[in-house]
Amino acid sequence: MLVLDIQRRLLALGYDLGKSGPAKDGVDGDLGEVSQTAILAALETGKSAPAKPATPATPPKPAIVGSAVPMDWTPAATMKRIIVHWTAGAHRASAVDKSHYHLLIEGDGSLVRGKPSIDLNAATGVKPGYAAHTLNCNTGSIGVSLCCMAGAIESPFHAGVAPMTREQWDELPLVLADLCRRYRIPVGASTVLSHAEVQSTLKIAQRGKWDIARLAFDPGVVGAKAIGDLIRKRTAALLEAAT
Ligand SMILES: [Zn+2]
Repeated sequence: MLVLDIQRRLLALGYDLGKSGPAKDGVDGDLGEVSQTAILAALETGKSAPAKPATPATPPKPAIVGSAVPMDWTPAATMKRIIVHWTAGAHRASAVDKSHYHLLIEGDGSLVRGKPSIDLNAATGVKPGYAAHTLNCNTGSIGVSLCCMAGAIESPFHAGVAPMTREQWDELPLVLADLCRRYRIPVGASTVLSHAEVQSTLKIAQRGKWDIARLAFDPGVVGAKAIGDLIRKRTAALLEAAT
C-alpha cells in the first residue's frame, strides 16, 4: 500500500494528519512523524477512530439478566410478587416517590433505589418503614415504579406533563427479570402484575388505580390486562434467554 493510501485511510478513520499536502489535510505521501503516530494509534485501537467516537444519545445497555439491579439492593427475604406502578409524578424520582417504592425507573431509563429496603415488605410480615405502594397488598410485594405520568388523565386519555418513555418501559423487564430470579418469583398473572391489575386479579380493592393501563408512546396498546401480559411476556422471554 502506498503511503498516500495509508494516509487517506487514516483520514477516513478520523485521524488528524496535520495540514501538509496539496489538500492541506496531511495527505502528502511522506511518512512523517504525524502519520507514524496515527498508524500506531490505529493499530492499537483496531478500526476505531479517536477523533470521531460513536456517542449515541443513550448508550445501549446489554440485555443481560442479572445486570440491572445491584446485588446489595436485593437482601434475602421471602417475596411473593412484584407490583408495577407509575409514580404519577415527574420523570425524576422525588423524595416522596422514593419513600413509596423499592425501586424506581426514571424517565431516561436509569434505575434508582427507593428508601425502604425490599426485606421490610417480607411475606413473613412487614416491618416498620416498609414500602406502602399497594393498598392492603404490601406484605410480600415488591414495589417497582416508573417515574412518570404527572397530570395524566385516564379518559379521555391524556399523558400529562411527564409521559411514560420508551427508555423506562424497556428497562422494566430487565429489572423484573432480575427480581424474579433472585427472589424465585415465577412470572404469572398474580405474581408479576401492574397496580391496575391488582383489583381484578387479586380481588383487593384499589380505588380506581390505572397504573399501567396506557402506554404514552404507544396508543395502540390499551388496558391493564393487555399491558400486564406484555410486561410478563417480555420478562419471561429475558429469563428464558438467560437459562
Ligand atoms: Zn400504583
